[in-house]
Amino acid sequence: MARRRQIYEGTAKVLFEGPEPGTLVQHFKDEASASNDQKHGIIPGKGVLNNRISEFLMLKLAEIGIPTHLVRRLNMREQLVREVEMIPIAVVVRNLAAGSLSRRLGIAEGTALPRSIIEYHYRNDELGDPLVGEEHITAFGWASTHELDEIVRISLRVNDFLTGLFIGINIRLVDFRLEFGRLYTDDEMRIVVADEISPDSCRLWDSRTNEKMDADRFREGLGGAEEGYQEVARRLGILPEGGPGDFKAPKLVQ
Ligand code: C5P
Repeated sequence: MARRRQIYEGTAKVLFEGPEPGTLVQHFKDEASASNDQKHGIIPGKGVLNNRISEFLMLKLAEIGIPTHLVRRLNMREQLVREVEMIPIAVVVRNLAAGSLSRRLGIAEGTALPRSIIEYHYRNDELGDPLVGEEHITAFGWASTHELDEIVRISLRVNDFLTGLFIGINIRLVDFRLEFGRLYTDDEMRIVVADEISPDSCRLWDSRTNEKMDADRFREGLGGAEEGYQEVARRLGILPEGGPGDFKAPKLVQ
């Protein structure tokens, strides 16, 4: 196989130059990190599951007219995506208190919020993705007011849609993080959902037992992260056929 040019490598994903101009290949790894990169580990099979889960959820979003960067899944660990100009903001939508919101404001985890809350974080590893407000985003030109309106509109639609989708399989969408990019076509620019939507980026709790089924199992050292991700995929009806035996990470072909 021809060597591919690597564009970016993060903890959980690698991006390669795609087969055609304007495309990238997004490769999902089993690596996980927490506590601002202090803690590292492997969740076996995570990459395979996140590739499937993110594909499934982004295709569902496309069905209701929410644009995403996904073109199609290529294989167990890779998907073809459109190359976008990433907006350096992570948008967090919260329905219940958890994680950094609970720590920051002293609100017990699991407390229902009076309404969904949107937070913005400036994406910068060295600074630990600090919380910022709309003023910072527009003043520093990370996104225009118009773009931010569109980002909020899409984020709330994604929240409504995914909340319903997950509750149908007895999973509570506690919160999630989205990233956005600018997709340029001939004479037009559109804001699209980029990155991934998976148990790495969403808090997902079993609605009957409140058991965590997401990356918090790793972050909080609860064990059973692998099983949590598998159960999310199983309930979505997309657990890969070969079962866990098929999930082993092959050596990354570059
Ligand atoms: O930790 P915090 O409460 O701020 O996380 C909010 C949401 O953002 C959670 O769903 C978490 O999974 C997600 N997140 C993420 N990537 C990070 C930090 C948080 O996807 N680096």
